[in-house]
Amino acid sequence: MIVGGGTAGWLAACRIAAAADPAAERPVSVTLVESPDIATIGVGEGTWPTMRRTMARIGIDEAELLIACDASFKQGSRFDGWVTGEAGDSYHHPFTPPIAGDPREAARLRPGDAFADRLCAQPQICALDLAPRQRSMPGYAGALNYAYHLDAAKLAALLKRHATGRLGVRHVRDHVLDVEAAEGGDIASVRTRDNGAIAGDLFIDCTGHAALLIGEHCGIDVVDRSDELFNDRALAVQVPVAPGSAIAAQTNATAHAGGWIWDIGLPTRRGVGCVYASTFMDDAAAEATLKAYLRRTTPDCDADALNIRLLTFRSAHRERFWAGNCLAIGQSAGFLEPLEASAIVMIELALDALIDDFPANRAVMAVQAERFNAQFRYRWDRIVEFLKLHYVLSRRTEPYWRAHRDAGSIPSRLAQSLELWRHRAPAAIDFPAKDEVFPGASYQFVLYGMGFLLPSGVAVAEREGGDMAAAIRQVEQRGRALAASLPTNRAYLDALRAEHAGTDPILERYAE
Ligand SMILES: Cc1cc2nc3c(=O)[nH]c(=O)nc-3n(C[C@H](O)[C@H](O)[C@H](O)COP(=O)(O)OP(=O)(O)OC[C@H]3O[C@@H](n4cnc5c(N)ncnc54)[C@H](O)[C@@H]3O)c2cc1C
Repeated sequence: MIVGGGTAGWLAACRIAAAADPAAERPVSVTLVESPDIATIGVGEGTWPTMRRTMARIGIDEAELLIACDASFKQGSRFDGWVTGEAGDSYHHPFTPPIAGDPREAARLRPGDAFADRLCAQPQICALDLAPRQRSMPGYAGALNYAYHLDAAKLAALLKRHATGRLGVRHVRDHVLDVEAAEGGDIASVRTRDNGAIAGDLFIDCTGHAALLIGEHCGIDVVDRSDELFNDRALAVQVPVAPGSAIAAQTNATAHAGGWIWDIGLPTRRGVGCVYASTFMDDAAAEATLKAYLRRTTPDCDADALNIRLLTFRSAHRERFWAGNCLAIGQSAGFLEPLEASAIVMIELALDALIDDFPANRAVMAVQAERFNAQFRYRWDRIVEFLKLHYVLSRRTEPYWRAHRDAGSIPSRLAQSLELWRHRAPAAIDFPAKDEVFPGASYQFVLYGMGFLLPSGVAVAEREGGDMAAAIRQVEQRGRALAASLPTNRAYLDALRAEHAGTDPILERYAE
């Protein structure tokens, strides 16, 4: 039983139904109940490369995903103004890791060399607005690592059609009024307004902010992380784009006095949002900041005519995510802030964990819940640290940025790691878990992009990796070869759409 029909609910329905074996002795059936009264959050347009694996497992074709969700390719993020806020302050966090080899060798980069630009070909490809793959490649394969930018409402609609039309998921449009308890605090059924009680064995709470099952029924409290991550509001807007205009290959994240602005390019519009901390910036100042950004980046758009939507959130996650026979996935499990698009990837990872070890019966759930809770508490803590890393190394002087550098606001493990990384680069030992959400490569891109000094080498170490100068030459050659062979995002996506226009069932199915 899945309650909630946002990105989390429909991803859960598709993943479980696609993995279910209809010939099993006790086949699994999936029901999703979604309230007609409560809208989905409707944002969440940046994803992580895991989305390719997720979509392939669900059985959605890549062309279908790109067309149905008005999607484009995301190859990482570009951070403007995060270090000093001065002109030219910009660095990349690409999805493709830096060249292999001994990271200590990176200390030989010349001062002023941009780490990501020298050690990875992807920033150069992003600067040219190129796609990470050619049309002739098999679906979900790329010359460079990539994810998607997409329209969140269209993604939920695609998943819904796929789940109900192709995977046999039962869809009930009804409002859940409350929960009927079973012995020992378990959930026996959810009581709906028009369809009565709907029973189930395992209940997945995807009710978003409401957290109807995990919070209201199970009484699992949240762990507030707003002392570490201060942002609690966002003003979101959709900006139309001219046909044929370039489509950015990365999320642009531009820092401002009290937060940052996301800018995500889709084929038919841009999604732009001003994220801020209400203790440091009021709504009027945030709106002025957003409009000034729009005027600067889009001179021909009338910023005053756009429909701006306010979203509020609190940086927090549940103390536990799985209690009894109830598992929270999505916003009901927690949300920190939009930086680095860590929310949807956590939905995907939660579903991977559930499906990898799907409970055979109620008796084994307690063990699985305990393991799941430990694994995901670890992940939420690591995400808080990685997001905080973007703020602690800034040299900006506004109160918001100074407060982020206050030692009391920095998670202790991050403070310890930063101390270690003054002497050596982030290494595998710092990231011991299988499937770390943010690997060492991501830390390197942010650390060195923010101007953290490269370590000068340690006295005792295995000498591995080759000649750094030769490796940098290889990156340059690869960048040139890719630039010559990859289409622009616009050319790729327009050609795809043209190929499927007219009689093709894909466009017809998803045209509305
Ligand atoms: C400003 C902002 C920007 C973001 N940007 C990103 C991003 O770029 N990348 C990313 O990965 N994530 C992002 N996120 C997070 C992302 O949007 C969410 O994690 C994702 O959409 C999942 O939401 P959800 O499905 O859990 O909840 P929701 O979309 O809120 O869905 C909740 C569902 O529960 C249903 N429901 C609620 N109560 C009841 C009831 N009583 N009975 C029946 N049904 C009920 C509702 O009808 C709805 O269908 C962002 C979030 C915010 C706030």
